[in-house]
Amino acid sequence: RAKQAGRNRYCRFDGELERQDRLRRQRQQEVAQSLAEGRFLLHYQPKIELHSGHVIGAEALLRWQQPDGRLLTPPQFLPQIENTPLDIRLGNWVLAEAVGQLRRWQRQGTDFRLSVNISPCQLQDPDFVPYLERLLEGDSGTVAARLELEILETAAISNLEQITAIIHRCHRLGLRIALDDFGTGYSSLTYLKQLPADVLKIDKSFVIDMLDNPEDRAIVQAIIGLARAFEREVVAEGVESVAHGDMLLALGCARGQGFGIARPMAAGAFEHWLQQYRPRPYRRQPAPSPGP
Ligand code: C2E
Ligand code: MG
Ligand code: MG
Ligand code: MG
Repeated sequence: RAKQAGRNRYCRFDGELERQDRLRRQRQQEVAQSLAEGRFLLHYQPKIELHSGHVIGAEALLRWQQPDGRLLTPPQFLPQIENTPLDIRLGNWVLAEAVGQLRRWQRQGTDFRLSVNISPCQLQDPDFVPYLERLLEGDSGTVAARLELEILETAAISNLEQITAIIHRCHRLGLRIALDDFGTGYSSLTYLKQLPADVLKIDKSFVIDMLDNPEDRAIVQAIIGLARAFEREVVAEGVESVAHGDMLLALGCARGQGFGIARPMAAGAFEHWLQQYRPRPYRRQPAPSPGP
C-alpha cells in the first residue's frame, strides 16, 4: 500500500515537472514574441539626496505590457526565463533601451545617473562586456560616466573572481557598479573587501521595517558603517515615508529611493514628474530610543 502511494506520489510529481516545463517553454515564447512586438518597456524611479531632496539619479525597472493593458513586474515573469537564452536577450534589450534613454536625456540637458539591473545570467555571458562596449561606441564618455549597473550581492559573491574581473572591465569603460539588495547575501567582510563595487544598495526589507524593528535598524546602521569604512557610497531603497527618510539621514545614509519619494514611472511621466518636483529636504531626527 505504502509502495503504491509512493508510486502515485511520484507520478503526480512527474506530471507536475512536465507541466512546469511546458509553462516555462510557453513563457519563453511569449517573451520572445513580446520583444519582437515592442511590448516591454522601462519605468524609472528617482533616487534623491536626502538632505537636500535633489534628484541624483533614477533606476530603470522592467515592465511587460499584456494584451489586456496590465503591466507585469519582473518577479511575475523573470523567474520563468531565468538561465535561458531569453534572459540574456531581454537583458540586452534593457541595456540598449536604458542607454538610448540616458543619451536622449543628456541631449535635453538632464544630468543624472541611470542605474540598470543586470541578471546573474547576463554576468555569465562572455559577450556581456563586449555588448556594453558596442552600445557605448561613439560616445565620448558622458553616457558611460552616468551609467550604473546594479548586480545582486548574492550573484557577486557566488562567483567572486569572475565578477571582480567584470567589474574591473566595466570600470575601464567608465561605468559604476552597485551591489543590489545588499544585506541579503550574508557577504563576509572579506568578500566585500575584494569586490571593487562603488555603491552598496541597502535592501528595502530592512529599510521598510527599521522604524519599528530595532534589529532591522541595526542592520541598516551596520551597512552604513561598512560603506563608510570601505569608502563606498550607500543608497537605501524602500523609503516609503518621510519618517524613513528622516531616520536614514539620522543614521548617516545620504541617499534614498522609494514610494515615499516617487513610484517608478514611464519615461514621459518621469519627465513630467521631474519638471514639477519641489525638493523636500529630510531632517536629521534623532532615532527613537529602543524603549524599555
Ligand atoms: P530591485 O532592483 O531591488 O528594485 C527595487 C524594487 O522595489 C522595484 O520593484 C521597485 O518598484 C520596488 N520599490 C521601490 N521603492 C519601494 C518602496 O518604497 N517600497 C516597496 N515595497 N517597494 C519599492 P520591481 O520593479 O517590481 O522590481 C523587482 C525586482 O526585479 C528588482 O528589484 C530587480 O531585482 C528585478 N528587476 C527589475 N528590472 C529588472 C531588469 O531590467 N532586469 C533584471 N535582470 N532584473 C530587473
Ligand atoms: Mg535594483
Ligand atoms: Mg534592490
Ligand atoms: Mg530586490
